[in-house]
Amino acid sequence: MGKSVKVVVIGGGIIGLNATEKLQSLGHDVTLVEKDEIAAGASFGNAAGLAFPEIMPLASPGIIGQAIKWMLDPLGPFAVVPQDLPKTLGWLLRFLKASSRKQFEKSIKVQGSLMGLAQSSFDVMLKRRGLEHLVWTQGALHLYQKKSAFNKDLETWKLCEKKGVPFSIYEGEALHQFQPGLDRSFIAAFYTPTWKTVTNPNEVCQTLHKCLTDSGVETIFSGVEKIEPNRVYLENGQILKADKIVLAAGPWSSKFTAELGDKIPLIGERGYNTTLPKTAFDGLNRTLVFSEHGFIVGPLKDGVRVGGASEIAKLGRKENFKRSRAMLTKASRFIPNFKTENGVEWMGARPSMPDTLPVIGYSTASKDIIYAFGHGHVGLTQSTATAQLVSELVEEITPSIDITALRPDRF
Ligand SMILES: Cc1cc2nc3c(=O)[nH]c(=O)nc-3n(C[C@H](O)[C@H](O)[C@H](O)COP(=O)(O)OP(=O)(O)OC[C@H]3O[C@@H](n4cnc5c(N)ncnc54)[C@H](O)[C@@H]3O)c2cc1C
Repeated sequence: MGKSVKVVVIGGGIIGLNATEKLQSLGHDVTLVEKDEIAAGASFGNAAGLAFPEIMPLASPGIIGQAIKWMLDPLGPFAVVPQDLPKTLGWLLRFLKASSRKQFEKSIKVQGSLMGLAQSSFDVMLKRRGLEHLVWTQGALHLYQKKSAFNKDLETWKLCEKKGVPFSIYEGEALHQFQPGLDRSFIAAFYTPTWKTVTNPNEVCQTLHKCLTDSGVETIFSGVEKIEPNRVYLENGQILKADKIVLAAGPWSSKFTAELGDKIPLIGERGYNTTLPKTAFDGLNRTLVFSEHGFIVGPLKDGVRVGGASEIAKLGRKENFKRSRAMLTKASRFIPNFKTENGVEWMGARPSMPDTLPVIGYSTASKDIIYAFGHGHVGLTQSTATAQLVSELVEEITPSIDITALRPDRF
């Protein structure tokens, strides 16, 4: 470790918590600032997946056709809220551009190395804090009804395999023996054994925060109003002085970056889910990914979570829970004995970048301000890798992986 410095981390989501954890473990003096409560954003209710095999960026050559098909269904897995287009059109156009074959191949390479670091650093963090009991290792099953869709994705999984992502195939009767309870229309699946699941994402955040508090980290519950190099101005009137500032405020980060001179195309890409009692699906052995329908059904310690979808809307728009209900209806068709009663609905805004890559790097205003946001669908999965990279930026040492593609000024 280099010399100990004073660091303020902004945002008590999974990214800010892990950045705090890593920096504190290296001996730095860290203060965490959260405007609301710990895990107030997407980190509270996501699908609990440590989706290490997911190295394929969403921005990909076939995605536009798929998105248009999904949009024809008003409650399908992808939607754009028309009234918010003045705020989101720029992002959508950049997403379109990032879906080129060239950018896609570049992104796979970056995601591959980020996921490699994520897998090893998550285990290290759990061990360091004695939190191994918060993760299960039962893999995920990516299910298909149409052979054509399965064959198309087979190419993708073969590409992932070349990057070190193992998978196996289950077809026909073998699939239904491996995962009983599914509708017989499912004919084939990819099984990815390196996919892990946390017991509950909010439990992970709260437990980690307790560990940090117990080991001396101070948390200030107040919104940040303004950031300057070495100064953080809080809504409660406090001014915090710091050697280094880490901005990890999820989809709310772009307000601060704009003030610091970095215009970053970040949106809150909304996802929905319903959490049902554990008894909803007694035989659920692992996360089920309904690949053709854009949602998953996954086990939690205390329930079963059904969710996914992508809704492009401005931050602060009222939720449309018809989306979570549509996924629940589909799930009950796909799992004939599924019990859909007594569910709790939730919406979260993923901090998403048009090229499906996070922003991890120095602000152009100062090397003392470090950005760490924009992880989209895989922020839980990549949280410890991000923390590792943030700590290297704080200490101004060479990052563990090449992060040129993640730099804030890439657009
Ligand atoms: C439906 C759904 C399913 C998902 N499933 C998965 C999954 O299975 N696996 C996976 O890896 N990822 C998943 N994700 C994505 C993941 O949840 C996010 O990428 C991740 O939670 C982002 O974490 P974050 O810390 O960057 O942001 P957030 O969780 O949004 O945290 C940001 C924090 O900053 C605080 N904040 C904001 N403004 C200020 C301010 N001015 N001052 C102080 N604090 C501020 C907020 O209150 C918040 O607590 C899913 C997301 C959704 C919506």
